[in-house]
Amino acid sequence: MSCNDTHKTRFVLEEKDMPTAWYNVQADMPEMPPYLDGAGEPARPEQLAAIFPPALIEQEMTKERYIDIPGAVLDILRTFRPSPLTRARMFEQALGLPDNVKIYYKYEGINASGSHKANSAIPQAYYNKQAGITKLTTETGAGQWGSALSMAGSQLGMDIEVFMVGVSYDQKPYRRIFMENYGAKVHRSPTNLTNVGRAVLETDPDTPGTLGLAISEAVEIAATNPDTNYSLGSVLNHVILHQTLIGQEAILQMELAEAEPDIVIGCCGGGSNFSGLAFPYYKRRLDGKSKARLLAAEPKSCPTLTGGEYRYDYGDEAKMTPQMMMYTLGHDFVPPGIHAGGLRYHGDSPLLSALVHSGDIEATAVYQTDCFKYALMFSRAEAMLPAPESSHAIAAAVQEARAAAEEGRDCTILFGLSGHGFFDLAAYDAYNQGKLQDFDFKTGTTR
Ligand SMILES: *Cc1c(COP(=O)(O)O)cnc(C)c1O
Repeated sequence: MSCNDTHKTRFVLEEKDMPTAWYNVQADMPEMPPYLDGAGEPARPEQLAAIFPPALIEQEMTKERYIDIPGAVLDILRTFRPSPLTRARMFEQALGLPDNVKIYYKYEGINASGSHKANSAIPQAYYNKQAGITKLTTETGAGQWGSALSMAGSQLGMDIEVFMVGVSYDQKPYRRIFMENYGAKVHRSPTNLTNVGRAVLETDPDTPGTLGLAISEAVEIAATNPDTNYSLGSVLNHVILHQTLIGQEAILQMELAEAEPDIVIGCCGGGSNFSGLAFPYYKRRLDGKSKARLLAAEPKSCPTLTGGEYRYDYGDEAKMTPQMMMYTLGHDFVPPGIHAGGLRYHGDSPLLSALVHSGDIEATAVYQTDCFKYALMFSRAEAMLPAPESSHAIAAAVQEARAAAEEGRDCTILFGLSGHGFFDLAAYDAYNQGKLQDFDFKTGTTR
């Protein structure tokens, strides 16, 4: 292997070098504020048992630093991992960056469902099946999580029922078809199947739906059926845990590149792909091997980390979830229908929120038209098609690269390209036709 070949572009890990344990950041940070139940008391594991299997509840709470990945899960993950890490040479050229400003990206869109979400869907389906559960309910915003779980369900022999946020259901018929291909049942949320859905439809029959509402519906079905559990694609500690393969692989691949990032960037909805990439670097910083800044990029129209409050809040509109200490815009927040559907969530991972609150991790907010502008430039330069969500990381990377270039600083940037945009061409079309507007939540202005 020619590690010192400075023209190398792709940094390929062999299957045998894929990490076989997840990294649990809870081992390396202050005690997390507990989840609270409806009465405001610390939630007990038994209360979570109505919707989650024991292994995942254990992963939610444990302070064990490394957790072995079951062999059956590794076997499935290995069909699309390790994921590639690439130096974005052509994109650097397109941006006119000087030689001392370098951009690398780690790509999670290789699996058919098209994003990092498969990394958690597979272990979640596995642990539920192990606990004797036959069906999983879930919500999906943009469709990626539902797709990932549908795929995992078909691989592991579980029934999957998906509550898809209304606006996404209408905008993305191919996502619905994708899920149905893998045998899932897909509903436009809100539905008449749940108490919470019926209540909302009564007062607001034309609602575009929200992720929070879809969560409430999926949780209600799971909580009221003993053979059914609920599965969440982001936010919770066990989901973040499953995503840490991304950062662990990235560290090994950046070693192959003989480069150390000065800044690690990811887009942020509920925080799972960003944390999955960034937390292993947080550990590396604690070990004194990295000085990387860690930067989460979110939409200006739904700026949870940069515009929300750090406080207890519910994960869903109907207050069915426990309350979590996190950055939030309020559980009844209805974000504008921006196209990066996966970034429309009102809250954020409690783990990531705590590390942003403590100043260990930074956040920035970007306009969607800048995201599409740089996503297109990236597409043309790198022969890739980023998901609109992922384009927030690209826009933030460009900001950082340009700032370094202007100041004459050496700067190595690593960003997470969380998924592909093959199902998001309507959003690109809207951008190409000049139909997209920018909304800034903090100032209330549109441009
Ligand atoms: C769901 C999704 C996101 C946002 O979710 P996180 O939990 O913040 O990672 C980002 N990118 C893609 C491609 C997604 O599918």
